[in-house]
Amino acid sequence: MTDKAASPNEQTEVLVLGGGPGGYTAAFRAADLGKQVILVERYPVLGGVCLNVGCIPSKALLHMAQIIHEAQEFAHHGVEFGHPQLDLDKIRSWKESVTKGLNTGLDSLIKQRKITLIQGSGHFISANEVQVESAEGTRVIRFDNAIIAAGSQPTKIPVFPNDDPRLWDSTDALNLQTIPEKLLIVGGGIIGLEMATVYHALGSKISIVELMDQIIPGCDKDLTRPLQNRIKKQYDNIWLETRVTAIESQEEGLKVSFEGSKAPETEVFNAVLVAVGRRPNGKKIGAENAGIEVNEQGFIPVDKQQRTNLPHIFAIGDIVGNPMLAHKAVYEGKIAAEVIAGHKAAFDAMTIPSVAYTDPEVAWMGLSENQAKEQGIEYDKGVFPWAASGRSLSMGRSEGMTKVLCEKGTGRIIGAGIVGPHAGDLIAEAVLALEMGADAEDIALSIHPHPTLSETLAFATEVVTGTITDLYLGKKR
Ligand code: NAD
Repeated sequence: MTDKAASPNEQTEVLVLGGGPGGYTAAFRAADLGKQVILVERYPVLGGVCLNVGCIPSKALLHMAQIIHEAQEFAHHGVEFGHPQLDLDKIRSWKESVTKGLNTGLDSLIKQRKITLIQGSGHFISANEVQVESAEGTRVIRFDNAIIAAGSQPTKIPVFPNDDPRLWDSTDALNLQTIPEKLLIVGGGIIGLEMATVYHALGSKISIVELMDQIIPGCDKDLTRPLQNRIKKQYDNIWLETRVTAIESQEEGLKVSFEGSKAPETEVFNAVLVAVGRRPNGKKIGAENAGIEVNEQGFIPVDKQQRTNLPHIFAIGDIVGNPMLAHKAVYEGKIAAEVIAGHKAAFDAMTIPSVAYTDPEVAWMGLSENQAKEQGIEYDKGVFPWAASGRSLSMGRSEGMTKVLCEKGTGRIIGAGIVGPHAGDLIAEAVLALEMGADAEDIALSIHPHPTLSETLAFATEVVTGTITDLYLGKKR
């Protein structure tokens, strides 16, 4: 980590608070636009939750899980590898090597741009000053403009025994200290389901408890169904419409009590992962000393240019609102930097795609069917089942599905959802289509390489245009 600013009090044009994907992107863009930048990060490495204890390490472990699952499944097709021998220390150090490589890359990008990186915990002491506390002492930095990118943290349920090391948050789960025989996951959202995939591959018996009537509640049910059907066979339990009422630390494990129409009896687990959402850090940065508005939940309201109520202070990423996704933070970080540099930039993305990197992956963008119905928007729907995709079948998988929603009358793409291996990569084409104002025919008449999973989006649009030949729907236009 570089720390060029040695004097106790200093001045900068742009101060960025928080070195996650949103913060470092904002700092890089501001520096590239000619601004003098100080980036303040409390941890000794850059990259925030995403790079260090979130997206990247989880994807490394999910890749491992994928290899284990595929090897096991291929035994049915004539190739047997035997039971996997797991060396947790080696797996952990591989995962850490992935994040370390990216940390190093960020450090050199900081140096190349001559950004001053200060390690320490920063909070506002006035509308133009941030005080940074670190092991070396306290320093005050005066700024012309600030970009707050201080993120979020996992929601804790206060009545749970949070000091028991067997009660995990996502960071503990990623630390890979042990493989619990029985793991309960509280929350059937994205973190819960991704970690379930990892620990199931490592050999844990998984139970999931979810408050709502489906896993990944924000997503259309037809998209989560193939995932639910697959994990129902793999996991011990998926308890929907159920809440955990108490967790008690006992010698043999954590004794968990449940409530709800389908609630099970009290049960003991070797570990419990709580993944019930994240809380913004808005109340932890001394915002009141600067006069920055923070709402009840801890979010900082911003306008389309990422400006807070103070015109020279901007905020981006998890701290400004949902969805708490790195790609949203990155987009917002660039806007804040560009506005500070005098550009006419504003948030005008038409969609922020979502991906659950489970097996199968679930990805969606634009309007969901639920949203279209709620908003009274009429649409044509094209669904292509991957059971008819040669590429999917040659991967030994048939449960996937690609769905497009097109505006009635114009045929313009307004939403899409994909479930199946690599859905997270495939959804990008639908995002581009939405941004470009493409209609179903634009995609249907673009030649997609065969045999690929990408064809399934073209086939789904052919269902809308009535030109599909890979399915027989009994109608021709
Ligand atoms: P989430 O909001 O995705 O899911 C939390 C789930 O917990 C919801 O389904 C909710 O209904 C359920 N829940 C809430 N209280 C509960 C209770 N008391 N008992 C049982 N269930 C309960 O949150 P998360 O999975 O913790 O993820 C946090 C954030 O991080 C989200 O914004 C998520 O989008 C983001 N994230 C994204 C990715 C990705 O993009 N792949 C990966 C990980 C995390």
